[in-house]
Amino acid sequence: MNSEPAKPLQPYVADKKILVTQPFLPPLEEAQEFLQDIWDSKWLTNQGRYHQALEKELASFLGVPYVALFANGTLALFTALQAMRVTGEVITTPFSFVATTHALWWNNIRPVFVDIEPEHCNLDPEKVESAITPKTTGILPVHVYGHPCQVERLQEIADIYGLHLIYDAAHAFGVKYKDQSVLNYGDLSILSFHATKVFNTFEGGAIICHDAKTKKRIDYLKNFGFVGETTVIAPGINAKMNEFQAGIGLLQLKYFDQVVEQRKAITKRYQELLSDIEGISFIHQDPDVTYNHAYFPIFIDQEKCGRCRDDIYEKLKAHNYFGRRYFYPLISTFNAYKSLPSAEPENLPVATRKANQVICLPIYPGLEMEHVENIAALIREFKQ
Ligand SMILES: *Cc1c(COP(=O)(O)O)cnc(C)c1O
Repeated sequence: MNSEPAKPLQPYVADKKILVTQPFLPPLEEAQEFLQDIWDSKWLTNQGRYHQALEKELASFLGVPYVALFANGTLALFTALQAMRVTGEVITTPFSFVATTHALWWNNIRPVFVDIEPEHCNLDPEKVESAITPKTTGILPVHVYGHPCQVERLQEIADIYGLHLIYDAAHAFGVKYKDQSVLNYGDLSILSFHATKVFNTFEGGAIICHDAKTKKRIDYLKNFGFVGETTVIAPGINAKMNEFQAGIGLLQLKYFDQVVEQRKAITKRYQELLSDIEGISFIHQDPDVTYNHAYFPIFIDQEKCGRCRDDIYEKLKAHNYFGRRYFYPLISTFNAYKSLPSAEPENLPVATRKANQVICLPIYPGLEMEHVENIAALIREFKQ
């Protein structure tokens, strides 16, 4: 890819709306083939052959023992907490998509917010221990933007205190840490295959687990608790992925490496064009991580940069570039959660600061480099 220094570029208004992401879709003809097959077989859901094939192929592609497919990531999260019988209080991050905390709420679990660390914006292990009470039964961290949490340190804490460790890995499809899937850490990890994620099945999700018994239990729970024709072992839910979604997933898998390559090139170009601007920073990248380049967040330090985040955000919008302020506002500020003692902004200084500084810039396969360069030029203008 182009790695020349930034040319002095006169920024312009894009001729179409450029959103933060655009879903990748395989060629339509390829979908027609498997649709014909589904029409012929009339097997639409309930452990069909596409479902079975995708569970197998994903496990091998990701390098994980077991994959249980779900209708979406949120239901996977709900079911993961049920499968581990998590109760009482769970320690989690306010710097995430709201579904992370909603999953606790729907399971009648009290969320306890703990601050993030500034390098990767993930749950800060150093602050976890002091939030543990006799009611704490688990930790629910998020690999935010697909950047791995401090997985070894979190496991150590979970082991010492006998806590469940369930990762919301909705952003971490394909991410590797020390040459193995980051999804192999913790008791369970959940994935989302929503249209906005790096790997999509329109809607969809999965739980990654490490033994056959747990997989079985999860499979019962996602299908009303049915074991065989007449036995119901638990109050399960309907969270099954259907055959259309699974067929799309099988096609998407063939293109995933290509998709990540294109995202990587965009990441690299943004970094080249923005790294010398004082007051703008990125998430630190580690040499022992293979990234999926799901997002490209920048953080704007108002004191150094002179202009605040929302000015840049609005200016980009006025030029047809629709970044997103993930994750602003913090989950802890929403009505359902703001009265929790742990939701006080004084308890969450780093998360509060990061939420006020962040913009995720457009990144997706097919985004033309000229737009990346124009976005960088628009941001650069703020320094003059
Ligand atoms: C997208 C997302 C979810 C929810 O996934 P859905 O598939 O949309 O239900 C959960 N957590 C995080 C961090 C997410 O980004």
